[in-house]
Amino acid sequence: MPMPATNAPPAAPDGGTESVPFRQFLLKIHSRCNLACTYCYMYEAADQSWRQRPRSMAPATVQRAARLMAEHAAEHGLSEVHVVLHGGEPLLVGAERLEALIGTVTGALAGIAAPRFTLQTNGIRLAEDPRLLPVLDRHGVRIGVSLDGTPAGHDRHRLRADGGGSHAATARALELLTQPAHQHLFAGLLCVIDPTTDPLETYDALLQFAPPRLDLLLPHGTWQTRPPGVAASTSPPSAPPAPGASRRPTPYADWLCAVFDRWYSAPRRETGIRLFEEIMVLLFGGTARSEVVGLTPVDLVVVETDGAIEQADSLKVSYPGAPETGLHVFRDTFADAAAHPAFRARQRGLSGLGPVCRSCVRSRVCGGGLYAHRYSPGAAPVFSAPSVYCDDLAVLIDHIGAQLRRDVAALTVHRPKASR
Ligand code: SF4
Repeated sequence: MPMPATNAPPAAPDGGTESVPFRQFLLKIHSRCNLACTYCYMYEAADQSWRQRPRSMAPATVQRAARLMAEHAAEHGLSEVHVVLHGGEPLLVGAERLEALIGTVTGALAGIAAPRFTLQTNGIRLAEDPRLLPVLDRHGVRIGVSLDGTPAGHDRHRLRADGGGSHAATARALELLTQPAHQHLFAGLLCVIDPTTDPLETYDALLQFAPPRLDLLLPHGTWQTRPPGVAASTSPPSAPPAPGASRRPTPYADWLCAVFDRWYSAPRRETGIRLFEEIMVLLFGGTARSEVVGLTPVDLVVVETDGAIEQADSLKVSYPGAPETGLHVFRDTFADAAAHPAFRARQRGLSGLGPVCRSCVRSRVCGGGLYAHRYSPGAAPVFSAPSVYCDDLAVLIDHIGAQLRRDVAALTVHRPKASR
């Protein structure tokens, strides 16, 4: 077993010339939401393009996007594609349109690639409209629900339009979803970290719903719009954080390390935590499957409600129009998108990082963090700065790495000698 190291072998090509095919198609099927979360990157961030877009994706746009997906899958010999139904709040399309939309995508891909559907929702409509779960069940759509932990922690940010909290409504939906009849559809919980909350209390509150997986997300922020807890005077580092050196406060790493210790030392597996598992795989020299850490080339493309082909919507946090490519499903193809410089810039592995990250011992694990979090108007190019969470990522990766090194060392010490 290799010793986990922060200078593990490359997880991705460091600058290939071939564009990477898309395997994940995120369809913005509804552009509005029934909540007004304080940290929402769709409505509260620099990009306000949602104001000009249709509320929901028209059937003709769905048809066209589905046809292009099928062509792309056929061209690249993909046997499966991941279709993410997203919003806003995707369940606001209603049961009938949801059924039609999923049917259109399934029909277009028939005989070419198997669609694997997931849906990310605040859950509220699941409890309000009993027709929705049967539709999702019929098509095997796995459902991820956004929940920020305890009622108090959740209701601090996930607000209704009238300012009231939404925890009780989401909890009702989760009680429904976790019943034996529907449990197979439950993909897990997505929790945006508030470092002022108690990490273990939050973790316990999430575990109450027995999620198969947890996504613990850093709130979106950049060097221009710093996330909560990162001082406005903080500037991008000019050198990678030195292991063990004293550095700026790391409230997110402190929070995450506390959860990691509890999760890792649990006597039985309580749930999967994607961020920790990805970092552990990367530390052992493997490849990440998400774009949050690591150097895996981006393979996700977004289709907006109006048919615009865009990059990941997290880029909305950086500047107006940042996710745009100028491409559209009625004029262009996903091959055009894959060849677009914006996507190519995010498929270059180590060589796509800025100079500070390239010189960092953690670069192949951290990967500079999420692309959107590197945005710094003063950098050239503007996404070449280290992540606005650089110090937090460094502390978390070093913490997990130290734990794995201890465990591997213990295994090595206790391994019985081979008999001769
Ligand atoms: S963002 Fe990550 S890779 Fe870049 S310098 Fe910081 S810790 Fe290193």
